[in-house]
Amino acid sequence: MKKTVLVTGGAGYIGSHAVRQLLDHDFDVIVVDNLSTGHVKAVDPRAKLYLGDVRDLNFLAGVFKNNTIDGVMHFAGKIIVPESVGDPTAYFDDNIQAVVSVIRCMHAYGVKNFVFSSTAAVYGTAKTTVISEDAPLHPESPYGFSKLAAEHLIAFAERAYGIKHVIFRYFNVAGASLDSKIGEAHPVESHLIPVIINAGLSGKEMQIFGNDYETRDGTCLRDYIHVVDLAEAHVLGMEHLLKEGESATINLGSQNGFTNKEILTTVDKVLKEEHLSEGVKWKFGPRRAGDPAAIVASNERAKKILGWTPKYDLETMIKSAIAWKNTHKNLYNDKNGTKIAFDKED
Ligand code: UDP
Repeated sequence: MKKTVLVTGGAGYIGSHAVRQLLDHDFDVIVVDNLSTGHVKAVDPRAKLYLGDVRDLNFLAGVFKNNTIDGVMHFAGKIIVPESVGDPTAYFDDNIQAVVSVIRCMHAYGVKNFVFSSTAAVYGTAKTTVISEDAPLHPESPYGFSKLAAEHLIAFAERAYGIKHVIFRYFNVAGASLDSKIGEAHPVESHLIPVIINAGLSGKEMQIFGNDYETRDGTCLRDYIHVVDLAEAHVLGMEHLLKEGESATINLGSQNGFTNKEILTTVDKVLKEEHLSEGVKWKFGPRRAGDPAAIVASNERAKKILGWTPKYDLETMIKSAIAWKNTHKNLYNDKNGTKIAFDKED
């Protein structure tokens, strides 16, 4: 029988890819999103969409009451490190209160399978470059702390209510769907790959933050993963739980690192090959606060527990991100989120 997954934040960047992947794997999908950063147009029309805030217990309980739900994937939340430093209460509210609310409803309606979006930010600056899930946890921002607090709550919920979980700690996610229908559409873009693409397409200059790190070329090194690979891992995570698999905390990364300079060179090369830019304008800027020099995921556990390895390489990631940006100059053309009418056709 078809299983139904509730996806919170299903109108966001990663959530919308997970929704499509679930539907393509024959799940029924219910999306809950308050459109604070998501987009109605990102939601696959095959999904059932509820517009509202997961922290609103009455609203969320209504969704559980009116549907038979087999599992929840929780993506709703805030994700920008510097923003969290400036407004920690917003982060604790969104990223912890939302999980409290979801777990309360899961417990009340007997839903036992929970897949959660966490982050490599829970590790902070690690002692080793390749980070396993057992590495010490030292978040350095309210964002990282809020996700770690939610991870603890989820672990307590297993003991108290028997709700099983797969917690995914993401490294650097990039790329867009291979048919360019959905992609990254943040109100303010701060992530390296889209920032470079925007600079290349617009002719405006971008900055690489810091050139004196202890890495092979002095710029920070990160582990990038294609959003479609990430979405696939979530489906495997949910299937693992539905097959009575044990709870697990799992890194999602490629186990490869690229420096900021290498990313710049690759994006620049692809943009030139595709005749979209004559060369990205850039310069070195000062270090960005809170940036660890190098972080790479160990993905052994993902392989072992889920049989998951990433399929798409850096160039595919960059090409899909460019194709998305180039075909969606105004992104979803909806002034982003809250201002748009609550209408799927809008
Ligand atoms: N970065 C940069 N210029 C930008 C945006 C990001 O040099 O305009 C660098 C950033 O300092 C970090 C790396 O790119 O070293 C990845 O940053 P991003 O914000 O994409 O992801 P994070 O690793 O912070 O999650």
